[in-house]
Amino acid sequence: MNKTETPLSAPMAEAVRLAQIAAENGDVPVGAVVTDPDGLIIGRGMNTREAQKNALSHAELTAIDEACRTLGGRRLIGCTLYVTLEPCPMCAGAVINAAMKKVVFIAKNRKFGSCSPDSIVNLFDLPYPVKRIQTETESSGEYLCLLSDFFGNLRKNKSMYTVNFIEAHTDSQIKRLAAMAKDIWTEKYYPLIGSAQTDYMVRNFQSEEAIKRQIHDEHYNYLIIQKNNEDCGYIAVKEDGDRLFLSKAYVYRHLRGQGFFRQAVDYIKGISKTRGLRAVWLTVNKRNDSAEIYKHLGFIKTGEGKTDIGSGFFMDDDYYELKVTE
Ligand SMILES: [Zn+2]
Repeated sequence: MNKTETPLSAPMAEAVRLAQIAAENGDVPVGAVVTDPDGLIIGRGMNTREAQKNALSHAELTAIDEACRTLGGRRLIGCTLYVTLEPCPMCAGAVINAAMKKVVFIAKNRKFGSCSPDSIVNLFDLPYPVKRIQTETESSGEYLCLLSDFFGNLRKNKSMYTVNFIEAHTDSQIKRLAAMAKDIWTEKYYPLIGSAQTDYMVRNFQSEEAIKRQIHDEHYNYLIIQKNNEDCGYIAVKEDGDRLFLSKAYVYRHLRGQGFFRQAVDYIKGISKTRGLRAVWLTVNKRNDSAEIYKHLGFIKTGEGKTDIGSGFFMDDDYYELKVTE
């Protein structure tokens, strides 16, 4: 095997150029070109599934469609499809229907590829009543980079999903909140402070009635943290002099480590700035490992204290503060 890469054929270089445009438009970079038996380009296409919001908008189908119109017929006998990524079953099916001569591709399509020996299926091996379609590959490090960069960025963007904070007003929102609080508190606090105190706290501070009372009489704002319309946790804040008191910040355990707290703190800083407050403060139970998260987010310990929460229960807390400055 040659160490140096052989240059791409002219039609494949054109397919790569089309793939680049697809990527710029936010689609998986796939480009395709159809050449006639003399090697002239008679059709071009790029993947526009996202741009067109259409499952059929594959590069190959567009190129074949254009080639049929160029030649004025439904059969592309003697024609070759150059495509940057191994065709899926739909496009390989189109190649069979057009009775093409050959398919040339660069990258193997591990998930949907349908025309090479180690793919889920090799449609060109099946006994359809057409002349057997040949396959060839070309190599292009440039295209492989384009493809892996695209998926790399996609993963990055997915991990930076937008989180919404929805202020709870309605009965049904508060009902959802109370149910979430019960689940999260039970999971989180049973091992820390035991079931008796946890149940007492949930009943007294996080029941629907208690939350309603805090919102209406004590001026708390409860915000449901949502990702893709799914409830992930909640926060509760209240103005306290020239600071904002972050009373509650809870996320389901299985969703922790995804940056929810960081986004919640950014959001709360925004609220504080809008209201002209100088800092955000909160209390963290001494046995609660969330302290590490807050320290990491820039909170500084300012004190500690025991709070009597009734019925012989105490909260043994550290106090933390985060300055809200430009
Ligand atoms: Zn396809």
